[in-house]
This record gives sequence, structure tokens and C-alpha cells, in this order.
Amino acid sequence: MSHFGDDPFGAFAGSFLLIPNFLKPFYMPKEKDLENGTAKAAPYGLRKAEALLLNNGFDESDVAVVHPKNLSRFIGPTTRAIGISSMDPLGIAYVSLTYSNMFALGSEPRNRVEFRKLLRKTPIAKVHDRGQAKVIVGGAGAWQVAGTEARKTFGIDCVITGEVGPEVIDIFHQAINGETLPPKAVGGILRAAEDIPLIRGGSMHGAVEITRGCGRGCQFCSPTQRRRFSLPIEHILREVQVNVDAGNEMTILATEDLFLYGLKNSRFIPNRNAIVNLIENLVNVPGLKYIQPAHIALAPVVTDPKCTEEIAELLVSRGRYTLGGKSYVTAEAGIETGSVRLFKERMAGKALPFKPEEWPEIVKQAIGILNDNRWFPLTTWLVGIPGEDEEDVNATLELLDDLKGMKLFITPLLWVPLRPSILSEGSRPEIEALNDLQWEVFTRSWQYNLDVWRPPLKINSWKAFASSFLVPIFGSLIYFLYARYNPTAPMIKRLLFHSFNKAFFESA
Ligand code: SF4
Repeated sequence: MSHFGDDPFGAFAGSFLLIPNFLKPFYMPKEKDLENGTAKAAPYGLRKAEALLLNNGFDESDVAVVHPKNLSRFIGPTTRAIGISSMDPLGIAYVSLTYSNMFALGSEPRNRVEFRKLLRKTPIAKVHDRGQAKVIVGGAGAWQVAGTEARKTFGIDCVITGEVGPEVIDIFHQAINGETLPPKAVGGILRAAEDIPLIRGGSMHGAVEITRGCGRGCQFCSPTQRRRFSLPIEHILREVQVNVDAGNEMTILATEDLFLYGLKNSRFIPNRNAIVNLIENLVNVPGLKYIQPAHIALAPVVTDPKCTEEIAELLVSRGRYTLGGKSYVTAEAGIETGSVRLFKERMAGKALPFKPEEWPEIVKQAIGILNDNRWFPLTTWLVGIPGEDEEDVNATLELLDDLKGMKLFITPLLWVPLRPSILSEGSRPEIEALNDLQWEVFTRSWQYNLDVWRPPLKINSWKAFASSFLVPIFGSLIYFLYARYNPTAPMIKRLLFHSFNKAFFESA
């Protein structure tokens, strides 16, 4: 429950870095509380659960959404139910798993450390262990702690997976009545926007859902298992207003793909009017300074470049990030692989309305169009998708090389069997088992990022100076103290050499 300096992407690094306690207030500052001690901003899913309870028989005096640090003020002798929302309680999602394996100084992912602290080192443990209150865990990562062992270890009475639906109300009523809860439950499967309650308080980073589900059917993906629909514009604007009223100047548009908004066909041809109308309405909300789409797909950018152009113009004016003093638009986009063979087998729908064989070309064209409109996406690439062979990895390296000169952030990740998904029973690749070619994907991606995103060396700019010299010097220290014993050693050595080389070359 930190706003990470209003940087939603910075929050990813918080999922694996073991930040010393004295640095936490700087890296992951606590959001201010409201006057009554409840949270000013909270995870969006938790706000939905709160709204659902308030709409279904609970009174405002019965329910409180609070920061973990304030639990002792709110947990008392009459507390009967404690609901916790977590996206990744064990730190085994893509980013946390990949980078805690590489850089977490041989220890646990931050997410797991914090989750254990929350459940076992706060007043939650006391009221749970003496049987006074039930602990209920939900959120996108709830599946991670649904097993008997995990529930016992953390002291969880009930794990709710799926969407925030009618079952959540029943579980809380049972908890209040002191009944035994089922160890696992499914919150509900929502079929339309009318089933979704409006949030009552501010959400973290001003998150507001604009679409649910996807429908492209990638085998490793969870959201595609949900029914796809768009939220009505009035619903979205009301939730944005709730956030603005709570003092939030930013909104994250929660969606698997901004271009799905208002979609009316099975070929995934964007509904330009609906999308442009949505963004225009958001730009006109007084007090809303930043609009940050969470995800986009790349195929619609090529299908309708005009749509990208029209919304980019609006979104740049509300861009959260700047480069060279000018704001730009970004959003996360999954590229995953350069291999047509693997793409056809695991994620063919991602290319629609084009053919899967065209994927590398779609990627290049889409990034080009986005860049022309000052849109620099954060892209994710998966290493170790089931069935990936050397030829597939070579194709990915080829596509990486083809993107040289374009502006994007490249995040290589280990494939993880998320739940629910078609590949949920697969076994994830171990970092020790990665072959040289797979490591090459990681190394080349980070070299690319260093080249594209490191500010040019300027002796009179501390930021540029630090990233040119202090970061590689600090990196060398970490390398000699720890990383040289780690499987990442060859990669880090090459990245350090690369960054020193660049720094000296530039300063000369
Ligand atoms: S395009 Fe993205 S959201 Fe849609 S199914 Fe594929 S991975 Fe999931």
C-alpha cells in the first residue's frame, strides 16, 4: 500500500528488491491517511470488496479500509473479519519471481516478506490465533496461498479466488456470524458491468477499470479466462471523480488493452469513436493531471494507426513521465517472443486481425507508429515458455536486434504458470537451467535499455553523472560482494563492461 512516489512502474521493483528498513520511507512511502485514520488510497480490488459489502447490508461503521501500519487502531474486541487483497503474496508472479531470483541477494522476494509480516507480526495474528476473527484473502494472487500448507503457515481461514462477486458477501456474513468458513471459495463470475459496484474511496494510483477480460486466448494468460466487457463511460467518470475528490491527480486505466474499449467485433478492430470519446472525456476532468493506460496490445496499433494518433495527442498532454523535459505516453505491451512457431502454438490470437505468421512485422510496425506519436511502450518478453527451443530463442534475439533504434523499454521475464490459465499446470523454468541463448535474451535486453534510457553524460547534471558512473561503480561492488557467485554473474559482468565502456567512451 505505497504509492511509490506516484510511479506505478516503480512499484514493480518493490516486488523483489530487499530494501533496508531505513530506505523504505523514501522508496515505498506510505500514503497519507484520512482524518479518521482510514486509508486515502487502497488497492482497487479492496475498494471493490468494500463497496460490495456496503451495498449489501454492511454499514459504513462496520467496515474500514486501513493501511497495515494502522491496524492496531482498528482491530479491537469486536473485530470479526479481516479481508486482505494481494496481487502476489508469495512473490511468484513474472517480475517478482524473475528478478528476485537474480537480484534479491539470495533471500526471499519482498512481496513474500511483507505478506508474512502482515499476517504474522501484526494484530491480525493475535485475533486470528485466538479464534476471534476470520482472515480472508482475495486479489489476483490469492491462488498462490490457496493450498493447505500456505493457509496454515500464514493463518488464513478462507482464500477467495476469481472476481469480486456475490460469494464475497456470503463469506463475510458467515465470518461475522462466527461460522466456519470454507477454506477456498470463488468470488463469482461477473458477466456485465452492472454487476460491478462503484468504489467509495480512492484507489492506489487512481486505478479505474475500463474493460474486463480480453478474449485473444493466449495460453499463459489469466485475464482472458474472464468474460470480456467494457465499463460504461458514466461508471468510469464517477470512479475517476471519487479519486479526484480523494486528492488523486492521476488515474491508471485498468485494462488488458486500451484498444478493447467499446469493442464490438470478433476481429479485434478497435472502436475508434468509443476510445477517443473516453480519452477526451477523461482529459476534460478538472483536477486530473495524469492519465496512464495500463496495457495495450500491438496489433490494434497497426490495424488503426489513426486511432493511436488521435489518442496519443490527448494522452501526451496528460503524460506522467517525461523525457528530455517533454512528456510522453507509455503503457505495458506484451511482445513475448519473436518466434512465429511458438507464437502460433501459444498465443495466435494476439495477432488478430492479422495472421500469426506476421507477428514480428506487426511488432516492428506497431513500435514505429507508437514512437511517431511520442508513445514509448514498456514491453515484456517471456523466456522459457513451454516448448521453447533454440530456434525460438534465436528468433527472439533477431527481433530484439530489429528493434534497435526504436524507443521502448524491454523487460525480459521468466515464464510463470499463472492461475487460472491453460498452461497453469506447467513447470516454470529454473534460473539455473537457462541456457546461454536464453541468458543472451536477458543480457541483450538490458544492454538495449542502458543504451536507450540512460541519460547522455553531462558533468553538470548529477542524474546523468550518477547513471554513467555511480550506477556501474555500485553495480561492480554488488558484483564482487555477491553476484559473482550467482547464475547472473556473466550477464552482470557484460552489462557492467558495457556501461563503463559507454561512460568512458562518451566522456572522452
Ligand atoms: S493479448 Fe494479453 S491480455 Fe489478451 S489473452 Fe493475450 S496475454 Fe492475455
